[in-house]
Amino acid sequence: MIKAETNPLHWQSDTSSGKQPRRVCYFFDSDIGNYHYGPGHPMKPTRIRMCHSLVMNYGLYKKMEIFRAKPATKREMSQFHTDEYVDFLSRVSPDIVENFVREQAKFNVGDDCPVFDGLFEYCSISAGGSMEGAARLSRDKCDIAINWAGGLHHAKKGEASGFCYINDIVLGILELLRYHPRVLYIDIDVHHGDGVEEAFYTTDRVMTCSFHKYGEFFPGTGELRDTGYGKGRYYSCNFPLRDGITDESYKSVFEPVISKIMEFYQPSAIVLQCGSDSLAGDKLGCFNLSMRGHASCVDYVKSFGLPLLLLGGGGYTMRNVSRAWAYETGLAAGQELSSQVPVNEYYEYFGPDYKLDVRPNNMEDLNTREYLEKIKIQLFENLRHTTFAPSVQGHVAPGVPGDEEMDEIDDLVREGDDAQDVRASKDQRRRDRRVQRNGELSDSEDEGEGGRRDRIDHGNGNGTSPRSRPSIMEPLRRRQEEAAAAAADAGAPASSGSSTPLAAGSAMGATTGSTGGEGRAPGDVEMADS
Ligand SMILES: [Zn+2]
Repeated sequence: MIKAETNPLHWQSDTSSGKQPRRVCYFFDSDIGNYHYGPGHPMKPTRIRMCHSLVMNYGLYKKMEIFRAKPATKREMSQFHTDEYVDFLSRVSPDIVENFVREQAKFNVGDDCPVFDGLFEYCSISAGGSMEGAARLSRDKCDIAINWAGGLHHAKKGEASGFCYINDIVLGILELLRYHPRVLYIDIDVHHGDGVEEAFYTTDRVMTCSFHKYGEFFPGTGELRDTGYGKGRYYSCNFPLRDGITDESYKSVFEPVISKIMEFYQPSAIVLQCGSDSLAGDKLGCFNLSMRGHASCVDYVKSFGLPLLLLGGGGYTMRNVSRAWAYETGLAAGQELSSQVPVNEYYEYFGPDYKLDVRPNNMEDLNTREYLEKIKIQLFENLRHTTFAPSVQGHVAPGVPGDEEMDEIDDLVREGDDAQDVRASKDQRRRDRRVQRNGELSDSEDEGEGGRRDRIDHGNGNGTSPRSRPSIMEPLRRRQEEAAAAAADAGAPASSGSSTPLAAGSAMGATTGSTGGEGRAPGDVEMADS
């Protein structure tokens, strides 16, 4: 564990940051709760409205400015995404989706990323909040901007992935780059922040740092040795983790790594993706963080006192997602929320204890101290290769972006094109290398088999679909199968149709190792299909 006193930048770090008032802009659009990915889909935009309900009923509106952002336009989205892809998203709808068979395959729209009513407006709201948040930070209208509807880190330049369609994070960072020479992106979602990493893989103007489960897990990327390419070499930082990481283990690597990056990279703005599927008991996740453990990452990043964009991301156990993000909103606004959940429109979801807390469970932490140390030391080693606080040629100090800067940002997006090509050939090189080298730190023994190789194999070997991809929903399917098998063993019907929702919840709880009243709330079932 590292304390702020041992942080080389401790003169910037404020250990009592939770109490220090900061100007906070919070973005929320009540329409977000009206969109549904479909029956039984684990991604539920309602979680944003549940969080907002807590935020309001805790009285946080007195501590920050609340905005409804202007929805992002097609043109704005095209600053990162291809025109063709954005155009498709704006035109497709469930009733005419059968006219887009070719496009669905091309843009990876289907099971994980379904076409649903209002899809484009949903994307516009998510991206609008992140872009406007970034713009307000850049214009010094606030110190922290929050958009829980953002953080959709898997979306690619020309395709949807892992429940994400438009990458609001990349769009927000591009906005920050108009004013900031260097932006640090940190990702604490249980999944690798692949879309953001890929977008900035070849530049030193954005350093990406992702802490995620690695090994037989979506999206399959984010190896320790993926460090960036060309000018961006060593400006991508990946911390591959195993199942069951605890608050203590997480903190023992998160704080030293971030501290070291701050020391070497000296960013002038930070974007923190707060995916809450890294919490204990998440429906798709496999980590064991408590609400406070998750929030301490936010507190630590906040302590550096830089302009900070806080974004949402994954998170599939809704009552816990809303708890964590409400608590983190409080942290940003300098108010520690009391542990008693206030009465609000979703009150029954927070039973049986009605506490603002997500407790860890008894699952085993497969991240040994030695493993975490080895990875940490290698990441420190990589950072030593970086140019100290790389400067930006021709960068203009804060002000209205000129043509030169716009050109520079355009170049950056074009570099993203190259990055995709580079990565494709990098995969080949890696496969070649694997033939020769074995038993190294990041090889299969330590990190499991990466899905990226799997993805290539699927693509070549599956005749039915030329671009079959691993699904982010795999853990959910596996747990459902296990629950069904357990129910069959016990002589009970596999379907929960005849049992009470709470009984079904405890069966789920047993397979995920949840404790402490973490059974599925009655409302989850009802909400899933509404
Ligand atoms: Zn995730």
